[in-house]
Amino acid sequence: MTFFRNVSKCFVGNKLCNQTGIHIWSSINIAKRKMSSEVEKALSAKLDANKPTIFDKIISKEIPAKIIYENDKVLAFHDVSPQAPVHFLVIPKRRIALLDEAKENDKELLGELLLTASEIAKEKLPGGYRLVINNGKDGCQSVFHLHVHVLGGRQMKWPPG
Ligand SMILES: [Zn+2]
Repeated sequence: MTFFRNVSKCFVGNKLCNQTGIHIWSSINIAKRKMSSEVEKALSAKLDANKPTIFDKIISKEIPAKIIYENDKVLAFHDVSPQAPVHFLVIPKRRIALLDEAKENDKELLGELLLTASEIAKEKLPGGYRLVINNGKDGCQSVFHLHVHVLGGRQMKWPPG
């Protein structure tokens, strides 16, 4: 399960990604620095529409996940590398690689993602929560299957990392 562990670490890692990013970009010895697997993944992640991601395997139940909610369009499950006391993902079952690839006819599905996130979060996080969508390399996206991170259970900071 090495593959799973490596990929799952990259689900969010927002804070970690940013810290490491600052670390990397502030150094002229960038090539000599050992990058974290998270940032490495995000930097080297390639968009390949045909290649299944870890999320396809979670959708197909090939890889187990702590599923919170599921219908024919979306799936919500706990992040395996939580960055907050409550941290789950909401993904579309029909793959959109990243937000930038969403089209006019994805509007309903995008709405479904947000409404699903809020329905679950209202229950689990009555005090409030945060949604995060990473898009592309600079956004630290490491899995090219659009996903909404929902984080809460602690005071979020601003600006985010
Ligand atoms: Zn992510």
